[in-house]
Amino acid sequence: MAKKHILVVPGDGIGQEVTAVGKKVLDRIAAKYNHEFTYDEALIGHVAIEATGNPLPDETLEKMKNSDAVLFGAVGHPKYDNDPTAKVRPEQGLLKMRKELGLYANLRPIKLFDELLSASSIKPEILKGSDILFFRELTGDIYFGEKGRKNNGDTAYDVAEYSRYEVQRIGRKAFEAARTRNKKLVSVDKANVLESSRLWREEIQKLALEYLDVEVEYQFVDATAMILIKDPKRFDVVVTANLFGDILTDEASQIAGSMGMLASASIGDGTGVYEPIHGSAHDITGMGLANPMASVLSAALLLDISFGLKEESNAVINAVDQVLKKGFRTKDIADANTPKDMILGTDAIGEEIL
Ligand code: ATP
Ligand code: MG
Repeated sequence: MAKKHILVVPGDGIGQEVTAVGKKVLDRIAAKYNHEFTYDEALIGHVAIEATGNPLPDETLEKMKNSDAVLFGAVGHPKYDNDPTAKVRPEQGLLKMRKELGLYANLRPIKLFDELLSASSIKPEILKGSDILFFRELTGDIYFGEKGRKNNGDTAYDVAEYSRYEVQRIGRKAFEAARTRNKKLVSVDKANVLESSRLWREEIQKLALEYLDVEVEYQFVDATAMILIKDPKRFDVVVTANLFGDILTDEASQIAGSMGMLASASIGDGTGVYEPIHGSAHDITGMGLANPMASVLSAALLLDISFGLKEESNAVINAVDQVLKKGFRTKDIADANTPKDMILGTDAIGEEIL
């Protein structure tokens, strides 16, 4: 029996709706396998700004540090999108959380459930069998380098920076994962033009000497973007920098049919944070349209990576597969052939899982 404390941080928009389903599934797992999971909740993002003026209140950060894992929703609110001058923004909470918790590795499994082959905009014969694990570096790069304005504000800059240490630690995680999978790793950079990418490649090449059983391929990010659509099965484990990873994993999300199906794990020095890759999606908030599978699959990653409960994790993934096999869909993964009565809302499809 495992005794674990989970912090639930739903955040903004559909984060609230989908995280509630993810938590319920964790509850069902605890009951089924006789584990004792306790929960607490905390604020982040727009809801935290409204309540406290701070997108990541100290109380939330403390609770995160003191829990065994965090089940996270999303942050964001449209009111900031058209206000580039806003000093306090929901996303600041997210970046600060990653920095404070030392979450330097973002894992995104991109796996297509066979039942959803037809939901993707990519041809089934190209897609079938795709199974990629992305490692996106999360605490360095252009997001965290010096930024500012010069020339009386008419020129803006963001500095992209990586230290050898930062590349090594994410690289090592990716090589280790490649060992447990098909021993194939693609490292993505832009070493033909960027100095930070040249250092990235140097460090991955050094690591490759320690992992001689792993076959490494080096790609420029523009090529990767193309091959992902043309031949996704060429990839197994992919490791890349923060900005490239951000863009490539959104692109790769189309391989899985919908943003609503994709989970992620952010891990590093302390508590792991598990969240859907999608954002707050205010266009569908409160309408019961949000697909909760990404949160449920995030809960599966949590069970596996933070708690080491592999069997329980697989049970969750299987349960999602079963629901799809039975023909249940949320609107985002339904197609013209889905009968109307099989299209369920967020809570209703959640009730079918486990
Ligand atoms: P943010 O600003 O927080 O990134 P967003 O409004 O850009 O949020 P995204 O989450 O990036 O929204 O998603 C883009 C679109 O994809 C949404 O507007 C929504 O229509 C759809 N979408 C995202 N997640 C889901 C989901 N879980 N279920 C159904 N549709 C979704
Ligand atoms: Mg978005």
